[in-house]
Amino acid sequence: MPRTLVIGGGISGLSAAYYLAKGGAESTILESRPRLGGVIQTEKVEGCTLEAGPDSFLSAKPAALELIRDLGLAGDVIGSNDHLRVTFVRKNGRMVPLPDGLMMMVPTKILPLITTSLVGWGTKIRMGMELWRAPKPRAGDESVAEFVEEHYGKEAVDYLAEPLLSGVYGGDPRQLSVTSVLPRFVELANKYGSLTRGVLASRAQAKSNGPAPPLFRTLKGGLGQLVAAVTESIRGKTQVVQARAETVERTASGFRVKVNGDWLDAEHLVVACEAHSAAVLLCGVDARIAELLGGVGYSSSMVVALGFDAADFARPPVGFGFLVPKKERRRLVACTWIGTKFPHRVPEGKIVARCFLGGAGDAAALAESDEAILATVTSELQEIAGFSARPRFHRIFRWPRSMAQYPVGHPQQMAELETRVASIPGLHLAGNAYQGIGVPDCIRMGRAAAGKTLPSTH
Ligand SMILES: Cc1cc2nc3c(=O)[nH]c(=O)nc-3n(C[C@H](O)[C@H](O)[C@H](O)COP(=O)(O)OP(=O)(O)OC[C@H]3O[C@@H](n4cnc5c(N)ncnc54)[C@H](O)[C@@H]3O)c2cc1C
Repeated sequence: MPRTLVIGGGISGLSAAYYLAKGGAESTILESRPRLGGVIQTEKVEGCTLEAGPDSFLSAKPAALELIRDLGLAGDVIGSNDHLRVTFVRKNGRMVPLPDGLMMMVPTKILPLITTSLVGWGTKIRMGMELWRAPKPRAGDESVAEFVEEHYGKEAVDYLAEPLLSGVYGGDPRQLSVTSVLPRFVELANKYGSLTRGVLASRAQAKSNGPAPPLFRTLKGGLGQLVAAVTESIRGKTQVVQARAETVERTASGFRVKVNGDWLDAEHLVVACEAHSAAVLLCGVDARIAELLGGVGYSSSMVVALGFDAADFARPPVGFGFLVPKKERRRLVACTWIGTKFPHRVPEGKIVARCFLGGAGDAAALAESDEAILATVTSELQEIAGFSARPRFHRIFRWPRSMAQYPVGHPQQMAELETRVASIPGLHLAGNAYQGIGVPDCIRMGRAAAGKTLPSTH
């Protein structure tokens, strides 16, 4: 009998299996897709490294780098080209650079704030005055929009918070929980009152610890390299079964999971699939757990990679890319020029745009044909970025219900879920529905789940 069954072979499940194997425990991964990695998938096309899902991870969260080092891939880590970092935001049909010194939506430099045309004078004055805001007790959770509006006004929500978060969550800042999505900012606001003062203070502290690392890191060959390295390192210690887990039941010694009509027994179960899938699996184990899991919303997104010959551009695109706020949006949510954002991704003579569609406001995009999507994205990109080149190749990746949404109240719901899960010996959850959506968060949760099942930790 395998001691631990891991349901879901995305980075959460793979990390659980990796740390189990590292701790000397065998496990079995059940994955319904024909490949491991979940939304992490890298393709090479005409010498370009295309990321179908995530393209990088935040340097500030250590779990990804720790796993990468453990796997012996430290030499392949690259940082974002921060010296070229300019992100544009579409405003009134024009491209306006995000002002220098902005940390998400928090301004930290006066001159760029005064001179930007991204926000009007009312917002600029309000952003400046925020510096004198005193700490004030807050009553529980609130939405990102309420939080940002209280500090910097509504325009900062529409032209900063909304477009910045749409790219990450594909969600609506009026629904998203600030405690879950921006926990660091909530901490700073509680301590300093002013977010700007809080960010400046923590920056000064970080500076005294040495030069700042690049904001994002990734692997030279793409994040698919991480999936390949984990898969290779668990070979022989982890069985991978390519099948969908159909249902879970409790037994005297743990659990049994139905797969292809047969039952697999396990003492421990790491459920690392999407929460909506976990809800279906666990309804026979605990109805309230299933209800809480089923209550986690997901948005659907789409990544469209367009490859061009650089010679077809009169002027190469400038900066990392652009964001389109909801107020200005037709279909395109954001675009990254990947050859500018990272080294090694795009060879000389080529330009690749990574475009995002879908999200909470446009889930229907996923049902459109490739031809329709290609035509829409190409013409919108040409109009927004101001060029007429035609793409020489394209790839379209659809991610239905893959990005968990953390609505107001999410922390309380998750606290209840955690307590409930802890009351069932051997049951563990990991994945982007719980305590962070990014790749490092998922690795951290997979590692924590493994830690709880290893005998030495009992
Ligand atoms: C387009 C996109 C871009 C992103 N960009 C970034 C980024 O740049 N940086 C970053 O840090 N994060 C990014 N994220 C978020 C991050 O990539 C994900 O949150 C994370 O990879 C999710 O990993 P996971 O293992 O929890 O889930 P998934 O990758 O969704 O894996 C879950 C797996 O479970 C399997 N499964 C489901 N049900 C069953 C079942 N019943 N039986 C067996 N298997 C099952 C699924 O097939 C899937 O493979 C992005 C996400 C998307 C979609």
